[in-house]
Amino acid sequence: MEIELVRPYGFCSGVRRTVGLVERLLRERGQLYCFGELIHNLEEVARLAALGLRTVSSLEELPIEGAGKRFLIRAHGLPPQILEEVKQRGYQIVDGTCPRVLAAHSEALRLAAEGYRLVLVGHREHPELAGLLGAVGGRAEVVLTPEELSFRPGDRLGVLSQTTLLPEQFTAVVAAAARQVRELKAVNTLCQETLRRQEAVREAACRVELMLVIGGRNSSNTARLAEIAARYTGCYHIESPNQLERRWLMGKHRIGISGGTSTPETSLRAVQGEIERLMGGVNDGKEDGRVRREQ
Ligand code: SF4
Repeated sequence: MEIELVRPYGFCSGVRRTVGLVERLLRERGQLYCFGELIHNLEEVARLAALGLRTVSSLEELPIEGAGKRFLIRAHGLPPQILEEVKQRGYQIVDGTCPRVLAAHSEALRLAAEGYRLVLVGHREHPELAGLLGAVGGRAEVVLTPEELSFRPGDRLGVLSQTTLLPEQFTAVVAAAARQVRELKAVNTLCQETLRRQEAVREAACRVELMLVIGGRNSSNTARLAEIAARYTGCYHIESPNQLERRWLMGKHRIGISGGTSTPETSLRAVQGEIERLMGGVNDGKEDGRVRREQ
């Protein structure tokens, strides 16, 4: 049996930056508040919680008195309305927003200032979209499919994407708009790191008999990787090695392991180790993580 860890894997630059920042801050002083899960990975969030990261899911959960306390904006960004309230309470703000997300905020503000009717293609409930929508004061529509968009005479449409969508989801809305409106400005705010992973998974899925995609259930980019892989081969999206079932592996000679941008390399290695344990494999020591089991 061969196991391939599909490159690139491990944290993306945005998550690496934020997690590194959190670790440094917690080393300096043992407590830091964050609104919403820092990243969509339960094990990593639990590890950081043990070091002192306090996650709150609403302003009610955040201590009223923020003087002397620090508050981190996670990589997805944060609606300015929430940030304003946190500042009012006296917290010291540390901005961990991914630069690619901040770039999307700037583009949205520019399009809004130029008078475009703003359309954000993405998942309404995703925190990145909440931040983006907040950045433009709520003056944007969020759609995921062209069917959700209605057109008006004389429309000037400005279209942006959630960074972790599939390109075809973004272009479907842009193509529909191009057929209907006179003036259209589409800015590609898809994250190149996400796109590279999607492409790598697509290629790997064509040469393996099973793909295991590792990452949080609520991780949008991980879900997209699993969707892509499932088009070409058998695929399971799991969060941890203990969800792996031996029957999935039986009779398979080539297995791929991929992970979302918030899945640490250690999680992929743990799944690899679990496969070895279940199937009695031996690692042939190759750098790319291939494992060979004597037949
Ligand atoms: S997936 Fe892209 S946009 Fe999102 S945090 Fe990572 S680098 Fe930033």
